[in-house]
Amino acid sequence: MENRNYDIAQLLQMQACTHCQACAGVCPAVAGSLDGKLSAIWRIEALGRILKRRTDFWRRVFRLKPPSPEELRAFSETVFRCTLCGNCRRVCPVGIDLTRLWHSLRRDLVDSEAYPGKIDMILKNMTESHNVFGEDNEERAGWVEDMPDAPDHGYVKDRADIVYFTGCVSSFFPMARQIPMALVRIFDAAGVDFTLLGEEEWCCGFPLLGAGLGGHLGALMENNLHAVKARGAKQVVFACPSCYRMWQEHYPPGVGISHVTEFLSGLVNSGRLPLHELDLTVTYHDPCDLGRGAGEYDAPRDILRAIPGIRFVELARNRGDCSCCGGGGNLEMIDAGLSAKIAANKIEEVRATGAQAVVTACQQCVRTMTTYVKRNKVPIQVMDIVQLLHRSVAGGDDKDRGQAG
Ligand code: SF4
Ligand code: SF4
Repeated sequence: MENRNYDIAQLLQMQACTHCQACAGVCPAVAGSLDGKLSAIWRIEALGRILKRRTDFWRRVFRLKPPSPEELRAFSETVFRCTLCGNCRRVCPVGIDLTRLWHSLRRDLVDSEAYPGKIDMILKNMTESHNVFGEDNEERAGWVEDMPDAPDHGYVKDRADIVYFTGCVSSFFPMARQIPMALVRIFDAAGVDFTLLGEEEWCCGFPLLGAGLGGHLGALMENNLHAVKARGAKQVVFACPSCYRMWQEHYPPGVGISHVTEFLSGLVNSGRLPLHELDLTVTYHDPCDLGRGAGEYDAPRDILRAIPGIRFVELARNRGDCSCCGGGGNLEMIDAGLSAKIAANKIEEVRATGAQAVVTACQQCVRTMTTYVKRNKVPIQVMDIVQLLHRSVAGGDDKDRGQAG
């Protein structure tokens, strides 16, 4: 087989690399590991050499050997230790679409059977359980049972204007379950006609893409689209930026979608939510998939500025330049130690602002940063913007301050 996973644009773009090393300078994996082999420039050069050695012409003329399975496996060790944060793509002065290249490369290595063993687990979980953690998918809305004030329908209705697509992390991780609880309470306070999909919600498919398993998306996407259309919904709202981006870029058009920060800033601006004063200094972490990925920087900041009493300070690196929390690209499954080191660097940036809390708009970011601050007893609160807004809507009480460090 010869270089089947790369199109002409990608092969041409690789030739355009100027070796400026800008990509290495912003890479959280390099900063966390101090290993230059995790940088985009090293990866692009190594890939170029592998592609030549796979080509009959180059092999005949220069008597090159094809890459051995051991070489590919060693290369794969570096390729999958990347959060797919997209910061290298942002700074590349010649416009190489590095994020797309990393996805193609992961798919290539999976097709070449040179990939970390955890990838098999992701595929098994997604195929058999329809969620990335291998949990019982019937329990997807299980968090509602922990809400004594939930209505009889448990927020799963036959028809509604809005579908709230919960996502795997919020559905199954105890640390993140406070986020959907806060969101449904906000929806109730604003009188939003919404439903969950319950067990009919399957993973959006984003972890498969990051695992190089993009060929297995069909059944998941079909199921989710069918479940949404059956509700007669006009719009799907996502609190997870990765689910949102997945629908934006890979699902067929025809269903209105929005990230929850966009939806909630609309509710705040139209005065449909009573906001009470909170006495808190916060900073905001732009999730990679919401910021660099989907280009949404303003809606979360609009919400923060609308909450009375909040003192908002920016991180030194914010918006497009925001550094990754360490939770993307399935890195936590592949190399939990590196993920924690990236989180440590992130929390150091947060502490430098003097904020009492770091607010983000992604359950995975909340999970990664909370795990770090709890393990290391860092006195910083970590929360999703949905939780912060709910605290204000609920009168400034501490009902959902479960993530406090
Ligand atoms: S996507 Fe992020 S982690 Fe991966 S190589 Fe680029 S900058 Fe580094
Ligand atoms: S930023 Fe782009 S041009 Fe510069 S070394 Fe990295 S991949 Fe090459």
